[in-house]
Amino acid sequence: MKNIVFLTFLLPFIVKAQEFTRADTLKGSITPERAWWDVMHYDLAVEIFPETKQISGRNTIIYKVIASHTTMQIDLQSPMGIDSIIQNNKKLTFQSEGNVHFVNVRQQLIGSKNELDIYFSGMPRVARRPPWDGGFVWTKDSNQNYWIANANQGIGASVWWPLKDHPYDEPDEGMRISVTVPKDLMNVSNGQLKAVQEHETTKTWIWEVVNPINAYGVNISIGDYVHFEEIYQGENGLLKMDYYVLRDHKEKAKKQFQQAPLMMEAFEYWFGPYPFYEDGYKLIEVPYLGMEHQSAVTYGNNFENGYLGKDLSESGHGLKFDFILIHESGHEWFANNITNNDVAYMWIHEGFTCYSESLYLDYHFGKKAAS
Ligand SMILES: [Zn+2]
Repeated sequence: MKNIVFLTFLLPFIVKAQEFTRADTLKGSITPERAWWDVMHYDLAVEIFPETKQISGRNTIIYKVIASHTTMQIDLQSPMGIDSIIQNNKKLTFQSEGNVHFVNVRQQLIGSKNELDIYFSGMPRVARRPPWDGGFVWTKDSNQNYWIANANQGIGASVWWPLKDHPYDEPDEGMRISVTVPKDLMNVSNGQLKAVQEHETTKTWIWEVVNPINAYGVNISIGDYVHFEEIYQGENGLLKMDYYVLRDHKEKAKKQFQQAPLMMEAFEYWFGPYPFYEDGYKLIEVPYLGMEHQSAVTYGNNFENGYLGKDLSESGHGLKFDFILIHESGHEWFANNITNNDVAYMWIHEGFTCYSESLYLDYHFGKKAAS
């Protein structure tokens, strides 16, 4: 009886779920135009124009040819647009179909490694309710400095840069992210800071990630940040932990982020070494609640325990830890290290990470607190 009720109840939703469009298919499946090339490396360079809320840039894609095909699917969502695509000094033609762009390439040798440059520009979609309804967040801090970030888990990285926007294919050899901003601002992305180039009115912050990275985890956080750091003696040796917060929040952050090494200790105990020693671990203050950006966890929980100061578990134990710091960091193991190859398996990311909150409590406060 129960089952019948259950099925009847679900039926309208099941039918509805099957009404997908060609755009959904292009976005969510491994099309032949995606399957023939394996992403090796992204070299993304982008300039941010806070006054006009525009961005422009270039993504160099290095890829390995694994099958014979002459059409390449690149994703970049409207209203962002592709200006040109260059391969071997030649402009390539392409046909756009909504958020998908089919690029005509020459027949390429199977096994060969090739690259192409995609130039793009536009006004990326503004996030309506980040991090859930994603895009760009343009705001200012209380000192009237620009404070800008991206959050695009559901909507995908192609909301602001062109790539193969499907979770099955991460760049095997990592990524470089160069972000040019007005010179009084800092940009924090994933991985390690390699260089800062100074220009007349701008600065370019060059970050490098050596591990394969989730496309939705590629991060830019721009603001009037101050930085502090510590070295953590972890299971795989010394881990650099870096913290970037707004200038006025340094003292609060120094106190609250004492939970970061506690988190690292508990999660390494339960799940094994932090997965990205080479890329470091970061916490970055952002103007939204937070997100699991790989090796660049973003944080907007007001430096308070619980979820914006509240205990969602109503058990009292929810106020023993900073929900965003612990939860988003748990994703480094489940989302960033172990990643679903299709968004249909998002439960792998959220299910195990929810469980990690209890394991954090178990480690530091005992079984009773965790249950
Ligand atoms: Zn989560």
